[in-house]
Order: sequence, then structure tokens, then C-alpha cells
Amino acid sequence: MKMKLTVLGCYGPYPAAGGACSGYLLEAGDCRLLIDCGNGVLSRLQRHLKPWELEAVLLSHLHFDHCADLLVLRYALDHARARDLRRRPLPLHAPPEPSAELKRLLYKDLFEIKPLSPGEPLTLGPFNFSFIETLHSLPCLAMRIETEDGLFVYSGDTEYFDGLAEFAAGADLFLCEANLLEGEGGGTPANHLTAAAAARLAAAAGVKRLLLTHFHPERSQALSLKEARVHFAAVEQVREGETYLITP
Ligand SMILES: [Zn+2]
Repeated sequence: MKMKLTVLGCYGPYPAAGGACSGYLLEAGDCRLLIDCGNGVLSRLQRHLKPWELEAVLLSHLHFDHCADLLVLRYALDHARARDLRRRPLPLHAPPEPSAELKRLLYKDLFEIKPLSPGEPLTLGPFNFSFIETLHSLPCLAMRIETEDGLFVYSGDTEYFDGLAEFAAGADLFLCEANLLEGEGGGTPANHLTAAAAARLAAAAGVKRLLLTHFHPERSQALSLKEARVHFAAVEQVREGETYLITP
């Protein structure tokens, strides 16, 4: 059962002109999951399926560039319920904090909240998830997702920490944020990774392939890729709308 990933949006903390913030459609067989749902993602998602056809939504964390479109996805679910297109609530797996942010997303019991915590594994259809807390300004989880046929790791948002390379070890595909450029800001990068740091993590983890994402709309993507290539050869930048086969 092939595992594949479609990039719906790849910017943060706000989109470039015509772009969207973080959102990824993960599929294996007929199980379809949405990972993160930033602004612009709902529009792109509907090129592939109706939002009420999703098995579940997972959020790495509750910053708006990862969850803003859930506020309008609720209205699509409301429409679906009124027309009996989907009866059961859509499972929403997310870190429980900040609880005020999570509560804000809820509407007419259209979502069924399933709190995620690091160290508690989760199985959804053919996908086996494990989570680790990253180093970010809100509680944020990186995800390690395994099926019988492949291993996919998503960094979420994070600055560098040693445990991430171990967590990503052996991934067929490592989707890693690269919001920053080296030497920028004049100090230790906070909250996010440089493309070079993402590439060093990929090398340390021995992943097969690195995909950079979470681009800052005002920073040079060409320079980002150049900085990453110094440390890891099998690196690409995601392209919005593109589907990537994870299964080797
Ligand atoms: Zn973000």
C-alpha cells in the first residue's frame, strides 16, 4: 500500500502571494489524513477530496499558520452534516495546549477532539504514529509515521534539538521545516531551523530523502537550497500542489 504526500501549502508564518501556509495530505490506500491546516489549505484540499471525506485531521501545533483554515473547514462540515454527507464528527488530533486556542476551533460538535501527547502512539488506518515534543514557542509535536511500506517523518515547527535526528532516523522521507537562512538575525536562531540545520539533521538521521518546507515568504529559496546542499545531497524543496511518493 503506497504512502504518498501531497503538499497543499508550504509557507509560514504567512503565505507568499498566491501561496498557502502549512498543510499536507497523507494517503495510503483509501485512508486520507490532513496534517496541519493553515490558511489557504482548504481551497487546495478540495482539488483532491471533499473535506468531509477525510479520515482525520492532525495538527502539529496551534499556531495559525498550521490551523487557521479549520475555522472555515467547520462550515464545510456543517454543510455536510445538514445534507447527511457525513454524520460522525471529524476526529481532530492536536496538542491540548493552549486550550483557549483549541476551544476556539470547536463548533457544533463537528470535530471530535483527540489530545495528542509525546510518547503516546496512535494508529489511524494503516498509519502508526509516534510523536516527540519539539522546541518551539507553543507546544508542538514532530510526527514519525510508519506503514508496512514506508517511514515518513515530519518535523513540525522547531528550532534545533539533538533528539530530532534520532527521531527521524532511517526515514524514507523527512519533511523538515527550513524557515531561516544561516547567518541571519545575528544570533542563535530561535523557534525555527535554518535549511543548513535541517540538512545536518537529515545527514545525522541517515534519511533517504529530505524535503524542505515552511518557507518564509521574504527569504530566498534559492539560497536556502544552496545552504542545505552543502550538508546533504538528497535534498529538495517542496512544491505546492506536488505529490511525493514516500514508499521506497
Ligand atoms: Zn509555522
